[in-house]
Amino acid sequence: MIAGCDLDGVIWRGDEPIAGSSDAIATLRTAGFEVVFITNNSSTTPAAYVEKLLRFGIEVEAANVVTSALAGSYLVTQHCAPGARVLACAGEGVRDALRRDGFDVVDTGLADAVVVGWHRDFDFERLRVAADAVRAGAVFVATNTDATYPGANGTVLPGNGSLVAAVATASGRLPLIAGKPHAAMASYVCDRFGVDGIMIGDRVSTDGEFARVLGWPFGLVLSGIAGAEAYEDPTTSGAQWIAEDLQRLVVMVLKSGPGQTGP
Ligand SMILES: [Mg+2]
Repeated sequence: MIAGCDLDGVIWRGDEPIAGSSDAIATLRTAGFEVVFITNNSSTTPAAYVEKLLRFGIEVEAANVVTSALAGSYLVTQHCAPGARVLACAGEGVRDALRRDGFDVVDTGLADAVVVGWHRDFDFERLRVAADAVRAGAVFVATNTDATYPGANGTVLPGNGSLVAAVATASGRLPLIAGKPHAAMASYVCDRFGVDGIMIGDRVSTDGEFARVLGWPFGLVLSGIAGAEAYEDPTTSGAQWIAEDLQRLVVMVLKSGPGQTGP
């Protein structure tokens, strides 16, 4: 069985490790779970996450890291043949995923598809080029639409949803959305890893809803976005388990017993 595990707010907060998370991953694996890290961050590649996870004491194969860039490219494959021109209004994670799926990745001109993913050098010119291609009829894919994400020292940074909103407004069209909690990510994960699993994350609207879409039990950790208020009304979160952090959550999951993880 798969343990789908979000990264930010579960394993780390930005570049700060969350205590006990590497031990908790080891415990899940010993109990027989195949851990698959599933993140809506599309800006970098699975290989880069393998290196970052190793710095946090977690060994993983690139094949067990799923980003919304991979789900975004998967969504493009459902509409465009290999070799199609795909305009990447996005970072290296998206470019790498599109190249691996056999697309011709371009930065300007008309295209068969446009993929918008989070990147820091988004500017007026990139907005203009992406909106032109979408308005001219390109398949419009957003890796994810998270409005914001947590920065260092309690700051809030614009997420990919903010970039997508600009392209949607300028082009007059709405995107297909790839990442959690959308069906493209769910199909992608099931195609690759099978249909049985649990999902662990810190955000009810993405991780919790993604678990619901998959029909998987959801474990909510309070080490990221969700706060202690989740305890007061656990039914609204849809979570089977709620704990302060991954280490405590894994203890609860394993107490449910093998094969007894369902609600
Ligand atoms: Mg998170």
